[in-house]
Amino acid sequence: MRLGRLGPIGAEVPVVWQGDEAHDLREVTTDLDAAFWTSGGPDVVRRRLETGDLPLLDGAEGMRIGAPIARPGAVVCVGLNYAAHAAESGAPPPKQPVIFLKTPNTVGGPNDDVRIPPRSNKTDWEVELGVVIGRPASYLGSPDESIGCVAGFVLTNDLSERTFQLEESGGQWSKGKCCPGFTPTGPWLVTPDELDHGSLALRSWVNGEPRQDSSTADMVFGVEHLVWNLSQYLALEPGDLLLTGTPEGVGLSGRFPYLHAGDVCELEIPGLGRQRQTFV
Ligand code: ZN
Repeated sequence: MRLGRLGPIGAEVPVVWQGDEAHDLREVTTDLDAAFWTSGGPDVVRRRLETGDLPLLDGAEGMRIGAPIARPGAVVCVGLNYAAHAAESGAPPPKQPVIFLKTPNTVGGPNDDVRIPPRSNKTDWEVELGVVIGRPASYLGSPDESIGCVAGFVLTNDLSERTFQLEESGGQWSKGKCCPGFTPTGPWLVTPDELDHGSLALRSWVNGEPRQDSSTADMVFGVEHLVWNLSQYLALEPGDLLLTGTPEGVGLSGRFPYLHAGDVCELEIPGLGRQRQTFV
């Protein structure tokens, strides 16, 4: 199932897509939030799709695409989770998952303009597979239990300001990760039954020129291991967003210029759609 949210910032309408048609989910739920995931919302939507009685959303084609999830309680991110990206960052591949946090208010629509932060001259892109938690995950017994706790997968851009992250941070990265609009998410969420999350291509472009081109098969720690491992340290809650790390080909490598006003960043994971941000 392909779920999302359409409409102006702060007034998005939950929808489910069938082909190109967006069905209005307001008869089922007010939002794609923790209450939706924990109350069996996806099963209700599936049944309503089968019976064919969900209304279409008028004017859906012309609407802004919002993030496909309500504001999460937490955005937990994994660093250095692709060996070649760790190398270009000057770090060895980690022996344990490395995490940092982004503030939930960084989550925005996939095609919203992003403001280059004041004083920034090292704003950087990071295409990533995002995992949305659907059931509480705390002290899971094994990685086999992880996917049962996943509501779905999304495309994300883990935007980063490298000076803030690495030179003004005191050693903890979140200062360079939490600028307004720094987590474009979407265009839609796909439920785990419809996606082989272990072999997804991830690509990014800046002004039409290729930057990143890799596969989730190259992760140091896969999704199942990450959810299980993190659950030993923190309680993942329904609606939380987990960013699973980025492959090589970012500005930090020194091979490409950083982002400036007027640049256009595009990202894609086949099955999870495409993003296009203009930097202002
Ligand atoms: Zn990242």
